[in-house]
Amino acid sequence: MNMYDETHRLCFLPLTRYGGTLVLDEDSPLVLPGHSTDKDFINDIKKAVETGYKALCLINHFPCAMARKYNIHPLRVVDSLMHAKKRIKEKEGVSGITVACFLQITDGERRRIARVPFSNFLSWREKKGYQNVPLKEEGFYQQQIAW
Ligand SMILES: [Zn+2]
Repeated sequence: MNMYDETHRLCFLPLTRYGGTLVLDEDSPLVLPGHSTDKDFINDIKKAVETGYKALCLINHFPCAMARKYNIHPLRVVDSLMHAKKRIKEKEGVSGITVACFLQITDGERRRIARVPFSNFLSWREKKGYQNVPLKEEGFYQQQIAW
């Protein structure tokens, strides 16, 4: 499964912002006070749909340096993809577009792209009791991960 398969061989637009979909989270620390990075990103997506794009691939790094910089929990990086998809389709009302979610995973020297199936991730998260992953978890990176 790759991005072309997932988007049904439609021409997809790899729109991105530094920090990926973390900028679309509510109260994202990546959106500086007085800035409208999230609204600008949504506006770019709306323009892309207006000009005919039918598929959008959201891609977050995993691990993500911006998440680390802002002490954002790694699961939130994945969760943010789902949140962004919901925001685009439901809150912002962008319809008629396939939104596929991916992680670009760095594992040592290895890089790969993995699709994150929306419903599978949500049910896995619920089963594991991760429904309320905090946006920030002080000391998480220092304690557990040397990313
Ligand atoms: Zn990143």
